[in-house]
Amino acid sequence: MPAEKKVINDQSRKRDDAPGLSRAVDRNTGQAAVMPTYARQDVVFERGEGSWLITAKGERYLDLASGIAVNALGHGHPHVTAALKDQIDKLWHTSNLYRVAGQELLAKRLTEATFADCAFFCNSGAEAVEGAIKAARRHFAAAGQSERWRIVTFSGAFHGRTLATLSAANNPKHLDGFGPRVEGFDTVAFGDHDALKAAIGPETAAIMVEPVLGEGGVRPVPDFCLVELRKLCDEHGILLIFDEVQTGVGRTGKLFAHEWAGVTPDIMAIAKGLGAGFPVGAFLATEDAASGMTPGTHGSTFGGNPLAMAAGNAVLDVVLQPGFMEAVQHKALRLRQGLAELQDTFPDEIVEVRGRGLLMGLKLKSPVGEVGNAALAEHLLVVGAADNVMRILPPLTIEDADIADGIQRLSCALKTLETV
Ligand SMILES: *Cc1c(COP(=O)(O)O)cnc(C)c1O
Repeated sequence: MPAEKKVINDQSRKRDDAPGLSRAVDRNTGQAAVMPTYARQDVVFERGEGSWLITAKGERYLDLASGIAVNALGHGHPHVTAALKDQIDKLWHTSNLYRVAGQELLAKRLTEATFADCAFFCNSGAEAVEGAIKAARRHFAAAGQSERWRIVTFSGAFHGRTLATLSAANNPKHLDGFGPRVEGFDTVAFGDHDALKAAIGPETAAIMVEPVLGEGGVRPVPDFCLVELRKLCDEHGILLIFDEVQTGVGRTGKLFAHEWAGVTPDIMAIAKGLGAGFPVGAFLATEDAASGMTPGTHGSTFGGNPLAMAAGNAVLDVVLQPGFMEAVQHKALRLRQGLAELQDTFPDEIVEVRGRGLLMGLKLKSPVGEVGNAALAEHLLVVGAADNVMRILPPLTIEDADIADGIQRLSCALKTLETV
């Protein structure tokens, strides 16, 4: 077998070098060499324009997936593209051995726009959540209360794929075969207020929650529950952590989803939309919550590099413009109305329309994978979530006509299912 593998590799290397061979052929031959951890749809995109993804053959797909809430400004946004091109010519990476101007600017802007006093930059959502967990634990250690290190989390949550963030979400499917859970997380059932209160003890450092459970089936946590969580944390002198990796950066029609509830956390993890496609994550904290994060306590080689910061700052240039969030809210209303009408047309297929802003979910009767494939056949991109929910997360910049187009394509997809 190793010999055979080697031959395949050699051939693919030759093909790569061969002039004039189509790039699509190379992609196909390389598929088996990619570790098969994803159930991918069989389509390759070559370029993007706004809310549309385009194959090498010129086929256009309407993107209501946004790379899982990442392409917040669609594809090829002129301002972000120009900012990155400009930075590419100047400087890519220096490490955190030196001050990074883009970090200082982005941190200042993020803290001015939120509850937070400081930000740590990393490269992904899981890293941001991991950092938030570390900050919460260390806050109490620094205050002489090192016995407080446990974090209360919710079943059905998703916090990332590192060992600690998997342990925090406690999804048996994701943990299977990876050895013992990382200690220190107490998971309570979503919506079980009594269990939540019972889970808080003398070892509890924090409660961590997503304002809308994204991967967990687009389940919004009601505003009054977020208010209660804040009260509960204040009563017990513990920290509140919001995982806004998916809900942040305008996704729900506010810069951050918790603004709807009028409460603020002590620590917040963000990522997905922050770089509009360039990998950037961060966790933000109040000065008090970050009290344990002193020099040497945390770090990242790549985190906050000049390219990532150029992307983040360019995204903020756009989303902080006056009227941007109002426009997102307007689009969200259109989308919700379109989905509600769709539910009226297909009451046997759509069980529930739920979500907030441009993070919407359709709870379906047919398996979500089948509906997703039917949508793909209509050149429409959507994302599955737990609880048999189809997620619809268009770019925040989607045009009204494209929302209508998306509803139409979804309608066609559902019609094909009915006739099967
Ligand atoms: C996607 C997601 C993460 C993990 O982000 P990665 O960049 O994939 O590590 C964490 N929390 C939430 C709420 C997410 O949606």
